[in-house]
Amino acid sequence: MATENNDIKKGGISVDTEHIFPIIKKWLYSEKDIFLREIVSNASDAITKLKRLESLGMRDGKGETYKITVTLDKDAETLTVEDNGIGMTEEELTKYICSIALSGAVDFIQKYENETDGSKNGIIGHFGLGFYSAFMVSERVEVITRSYTDAPAVHWICDESGEYETSSCEKEGHGTAVIMHISDSEREYLSASKIRSMLEKYCSFMPVEIYFDDGSEQDTKEGEEAKEPTPINDVRPLWLKNPSECEDEEYKDFYSKVFSDFRDPLFHIHINADYPLNFKGILYFPKLANEYESIEGQVKLYYNQVYVADNIKEVIPEYLLMLKGVLDCPELPLNVSRSYLQTNTYVSKVSAHIVKKVADKLCSLCNTDRENYEKIWDDIAPFVEYACMKDKKFYDRVKNALLIPMTDGAKKTYSEYLDDAKEKHENTVYYATDRALQAQYISMFESEGIKVALFERPIDTQFATMLEQYMENVKFMRVDSEIGDILKGDGEVGENEDLKKIFADILGERTTVKFDALKDTSVPAVLNVSEQSRRMEEMMRLYNMGGDFPVESTLVLNTASPLTKKMCDLASTDTEKAKEMASYVYKLSLLSQKKFSAEEMQSFMQDSFNILMKL
Ligand code: ADP
Repeated sequence: MATENNDIKKGGISVDTEHIFPIIKKWLYSEKDIFLREIVSNASDAITKLKRLESLGMRDGKGETYKITVTLDKDAETLTVEDNGIGMTEEELTKYICSIALSGAVDFIQKYENETDGSKNGIIGHFGLGFYSAFMVSERVEVITRSYTDAPAVHWICDESGEYETSSCEKEGHGTAVIMHISDSEREYLSASKIRSMLEKYCSFMPVEIYFDDGSEQDTKEGEEAKEPTPINDVRPLWLKNPSECEDEEYKDFYSKVFSDFRDPLFHIHINADYPLNFKGILYFPKLANEYESIEGQVKLYYNQVYVADNIKEVIPEYLLMLKGVLDCPELPLNVSRSYLQTNTYVSKVSAHIVKKVADKLCSLCNTDRENYEKIWDDIAPFVEYACMKDKKFYDRVKNALLIPMTDGAKKTYSEYLDDAKEKHENTVYYATDRALQAQYISMFESEGIKVALFERPIDTQFATMLEQYMENVKFMRVDSEIGDILKGDGEVGENEDLKKIFADILGERTTVKFDALKDTSVPAVLNVSEQSRRMEEMMRLYNMGGDFPVESTLVLNTASPLTKKMCDLASTDTEKAKEMASYVYKLSLLSQKKFSAEEMQSFMQDSFNILMKL
C-alpha cells in the first residue's frame, strides 16, 4: 500500500501524555469494542467532509463513489479501516493525531478522573479519545494518509509506548488507512465473526457504505461471476425519511430486521422533531407472547447514525423502556458522564417530547382507529396503566384514550362508561376481578342493564385507586362490595329474628347479617365485602406486611328469594334443618366470593354429599 522513503522523522508523545496508553487501556476496558466504532466513524466523517467540499463547489469529485473498507488479515494480524475521504497532510496529521487528539484525551482524563458517579463505564458515547481507542486492542497502529490536496502522502507509525515515526510515502488516491496491529492479548479481534457483529452493532446505519473483507476466499464456480460485495450498512435508515413517505410494510421490515423479532409490532411512532430538539427516531410497541416474557425492550440510541448505547434512562423514561426502537439525537452531549445527562435540560426536553409523542399516538389511535385500538388494548393496557401511575403528566395526556374492558367483551373509555351510567349509578364504576368466580354478582348487575368493568390484572385495582384520586367524585366498587339501591326491589323486606340468630351463630365475628329484598329472586344470599377494607388487605398482602387484616363483610339475605323464605319458615319450625340450610347457603355465598382453601373445599363437598343423601 505504501512505499517508504528515507526522510524519517522521529518523535515522542509529549510529557503530559506519557501515561496515556496505559490509562486508555485500563479505563475503557469493558467497552473495548467501541474502538471500531471510533475508527470507522472517523473514516465516515472524513468522507462526509469531502462530500461537503463537493457540494460547496470547492472540489469536483467526478462522480467518485465513496466507501469504507474494513479488512481483516489474520496472517498479518491486522485490522485495517480504509476510506477515500479527505485525508490528511503531514501537518494535519501532526496537529490532529499527535497533538490535538492527545491533549483532548488528557483533558478528558483529568476532567473525569474524580468522577464519582460509579465506574468510568458510566461515561457513554463519544469519548473524544476517538482515534486513540485503537490502542486498546493494538500493539502498534499505522496511518497511511493522503490529503485530497496535492500534498504528498504520509506514513505514521506509533507503538503502545507512544513512540511514533512519520515519513512520507506513496499512496494511490486520497484518503486514509488505519492499520491496527492487534495485540497478542486481544486476538479475539482477529475473528471475522466478532468483527462482523461489532460492525453490525455500531455501524449498521452509518451514512457511508461500509464493506467488510473478512479475508476468506470467495468460492466461485467456473463460469460464474463473483458476487458483488454488499455493504454491511444501510446508509439511509428509515428514521431519516419523511414519515409521510414511509409505507407500513417498511416499518415492519425495519423492525424485524433490527430487532430480529418475527412478530409484527402493535404500532409504531415515527418522531421527526425539528429545531430546537432536532432528533429523529422510530419507536415500536412490541407484541409480547405472554406475560412471562421479559418486558425489557430495546431503544437504541444513535448519534448521527452511529450507534451509542441501548436503553438510556435519561433519554427515555424507565416506564417506556418496554418499547423497542431507534433514536438518533445529533444534539445530545454524549461525550459526557451520565450524571451530567441527568441534569441536562436538553436531555429532559427530548425525554418529555418522547412521552408526548407516545401519548399523542395512543390518543390518535383511539380517536381514528378505534376498532384496531380495542384489539391491541389488552396487550398495551398494563404498560399504559403503569406509565400513568408513574407519571401524572402522561396520565393527563392519555386519560381520554384509556379503555375499560367490559365483562360482555365491549371496551369503553371512562367517559363513555360514566355517560352511560349517568342515570343508574352516577360516578360509580362497578368492576369484577374474576369473571368466573364473580359470575353470580356480575349477572345481578347485568340483568339490571349495568355494565361491569373487568379488572383482572393485579395492577388494575391499584390503577383504580389512582384514578379515584385524579377523577373527581368517581369511585370504583367491586361487584361484591355493596348492594346498591339499583339491585334492591320494592318488596317488603320482612326480617326474621330466628333466622338472623341462626346465621349469627354460623358467621364469624367480622361478618354481620342483614335482610334485603333484591330484584333478583334467584339468589338467597349475597356476601358483601367492604371495598375499602378489601383493598387495604390486598395492599398489605402485596407489600408482604403480614398478619390477618380484618376484612369486614355483610351477608345479605334476600327475602325475595323462595329459598330464604323457606329458611325463615323453618327457623321456627325445624331449627336443625334451618341451621343446615343456613350453613350451606353461607358456604355457597362464600364460594362465589373467593377461592376456597383446601379445608373449606373439603367441608363443602361433605355438606353437599350429605344434602344429596337426603333427596
Ligand atoms: P475526533 O474524531 O473526536 O475529532 P479523533 O481522535 O478520533 O477525535 O480524531 C482526531 C482528528 O484526526 C479528527 O478530528 C480528524 O481531523 C483526524 N482524523 C482522524 N481519522 C481520520 C481519517 N480517517 N481521515 C481524515 N482525518 C482523520
